[in-house]
Amino acid sequence: MTTGIVYDDIYLEHDIGTHVESHERLIAIMDFLKEKKLLEDPSYRIIKPRKATLDQIRYVHRERIIKEIQEICELSAKTQRLQYIDDGDTIASPKTYEASLFSVGGNLQAADEIINGNIKNAFALVRPPGHHSNSHRFAGFCIFNNIAITAEYLFREKGIKKVVIIDWDCHHGNGTQDIFYQGSKSDSGELVMFNSHQYGYFYPGTGNFDEIGKGKGAGKIINYPMPAGSADDVIPIYLKEIIIPICEEFKPEFILISAGFDTHWTDQLTNMNWTYQAPAEYLQKIKTIAQKYADERILITLEGGYQLDKQARAVYNCLRVLNNEDNNLIKEELRTSGQKLLDYYNNRLIPALKDKLSSYWNCF
Ligand SMILES: [Zn+2]
Repeated sequence: MTTGIVYDDIYLEHDIGTHVESHERLIAIMDFLKEKKLLEDPSYRIIKPRKATLDQIRYVHRERIIKEIQEICELSAKTQRLQYIDDGDTIASPKTYEASLFSVGGNLQAADEIINGNIKNAFALVRPPGHHSNSHRFAGFCIFNNIAITAEYLFREKGIKKVVIIDWDCHHGNGTQDIFYQGSKSDSGELVMFNSHQYGYFYPGTGNFDEIGKGKGAGKIINYPMPAGSADDVIPIYLKEIIIPICEEFKPEFILISAGFDTHWTDQLTNMNWTYQAPAEYLQKIKTIAQKYADERILITLEGGYQLDKQARAVYNCLRVLNNEDNNLIKEELRTSGQKLLDYYNNRLIPALKDKLSSYWNCF
């Protein structure tokens, strides 16, 4: 069976110059995969994206912002200038709207191929990213919320009933959380979202442990706020104490991952302490859950990551894990959080989270 890699040069045409979320991020990843000859290995296959339809974009976004981004891109083409959205954080070029449709559509194409059995799992190397955008606002370098639309697509067009989203980008997946705070938008789907992110005087400021969803979504939004300096060793705690028990009870049919690689200790926008093998080790455990319940179905979509060489290595490692080559990772020296931080996780955060979630999950 094959691991799919969604990629197309259209993603470079969301060209926002020297912005940190630049097209150079994808070029660096693809160059590294070529250098390592990973793309010559027949157990990986490049998947060409398609355009998502406007009806699919409307699964999570309001008409007003869909029109807004079209108009902003038309203005950018007419004036030949980049256009600023969201107080200047998020930028659009003439081709941003089109690249955004392909960014969503790349994920949908990969989901189809996984469900049809053409590939086992996939990594969508797409941009613009999506996890900060909600139904009515573009934010944090993001245009359409790729992963939220994919989840709704699985519910509405593919007959999937239970989806887990895991967001390990260093920034809280606030857009995705907003969209699903009161549960999935479609009546037929059930969704659980796990976030892990830097927390405390840090963008976007949301994602404390007590944000757990409402109504149909109550108990299904789970946040793991990480203080600055947290290293690889805080992930196994989250997996063992929270993610695995809930997944054992929920039994997801499909796992979607919002994968940011800005948790690396050298990343210029963040203050975390992860190595570039840490996300792959997170993924190994998620893969075990997928093997048990989800017919191995995992789709990873790219979010942030701003230290280009480190991000490329982290993506490479995740691709090796998707293809069951867990022993073929590139590793750097292990980093640790220190006892004080580990005490916060074990003695404060985990008990508080379990207490908050205990009315919704039998495992607690
Ligand atoms: Zn991020």
